[in-house]
Amino acid sequence: MAKIPGRVKALLLAGGLGTRLRPLTDTVPKCLVPVLGRPLLDFWVDRLAEAGIDEARVNTHALADQVRAYIAGVNSEGWVHLVESHEPVLLGSAGTIHANADLADLADQIVIIYADNLSDIDLRPLLDFHRSHKDPFTMVLFRAPNPRACGIAQLDAVGRIVSFIEKPDQPAADLANAGLYVIEASAYREIAALRAFDLGFDVLPRFVGRMRGWVWGGYHLDIGSHSALEQARGDAVRILSARRDPRTPQLRPAVFLDRDGTLIEHVHYLSDPAQVRVLPGAAEALTRLRRAGFVCVLVTNQSAIGRGMITEARLHEIHVEMNRQLAERGTALDAIYFCPDAPAGDDRTVIENSKRKPGPGMLLQAAIEIGLELADSWMVGDLISDVLAGLNAGCRSILVASGQTPLSGLEAHSSTGSYLTASNFAAAVEMILDLQGTQR
Ligand SMILES: [Mg+2]
Repeated sequence: MAKIPGRVKALLLAGGLGTRLRPLTDTVPKCLVPVLGRPLLDFWVDRLAEAGIDEARVNTHALADQVRAYIAGVNSEGWVHLVESHEPVLLGSAGTIHANADLADLADQIVIIYADNLSDIDLRPLLDFHRSHKDPFTMVLFRAPNPRACGIAQLDAVGRIVSFIEKPDQPAADLANAGLYVIEASAYREIAALRAFDLGFDVLPRFVGRMRGWVWGGYHLDIGSHSALEQARGDAVRILSARRDPRTPQLRPAVFLDRDGTLIEHVHYLSDPAQVRVLPGAAEALTRLRRAGFVCVLVTNQSAIGRGMITEARLHEIHVEMNRQLAERGTALDAIYFCPDAPAGDDRTVIENSKRKPGPGMLLQAAIEIGLELADSWMVGDLISDVLAGLNAGCRSILVASGQTPLSGLEAHSSTGSYLTASNFAAAVEMILDLQGTQR
């Protein structure tokens, strides 16, 4: 059966729970975990746009409202149209195909993508390859460093897959399933009719002998764990920043800053706008950062709200006064994020929830909402929890001595990771501008 370069649609499998990425995935769905300040799913939307695939289904499950908002944002840009396929109960990869069986009526070929992976694959030569052979199924393969954890394929002389074993005890090869397939509509219908759960275990073995392998020699990583995510964030600068994505605006670097003891005078449980005093030199430092192209984002723990000591309305009044004083000095913040939760313990190095510093949640949220390049960004604050929030978000950090940590205490936490120290925010900004454009 000859294939035509016909209509292509995609199915993005994005409903995974990401349990090994907790606590991050308690508040951010796995498919939106940021890499280089961009949600993971964004890289796949770019790949689709690049290949001219203009429509994809996205299955959702946990934190679906966030994915829904993301989908609306992508749709408003007009490059790729995403359609949500919600699963109140996870259906499994093959179950999602069954639930989206109608895709076979809308397309001649369907590209199925596990959106948990970070990859720089080019889908265009993959589609060319798929159309060049007569089998109804093409599986993308990559050389896995850990074949026992993967589905392993063996190819014959023409590239047909003659054996496929999910997580073999004794792998015969290292060519692993990349979680990316091109399937003819006829085969897609066949899979949908099986009403199976998992593609790897229940479906792929049935296609042995009538599917081809296409080896991708570029970058491919399953972001399933914190260590993989950290690796991806490090690799992404090198691998993906070289690719220009047509639909992607340039991401900007940010300086995240703490409020009390960093931007304004530290007052124990500040509760009255009359107590707000911007620290000397801080407003001028903000101006310098903004002129140098940094987005300035305040991230503040406000446990006084969680403890019932102030209301959100009162916090707002305090920030209105702070902004008024900044405006008086001719400057402003770009955004303010706060976490109202009261802590359960008193160890400032422990992440109790991802939003409260030292958790990276506020920084990650800002990166998604504003479009920030976290690898080029900084966090400045007067507590070890500030420094760690920055490091946990993939930023560089500076601890300042203008608040609750005296100069003599600056080195006390050197075991927690590498960060710089400065006497105050203005001195930290001097360092940031000196180091701008350098690698960590
Ligand atoms: Mg502080």
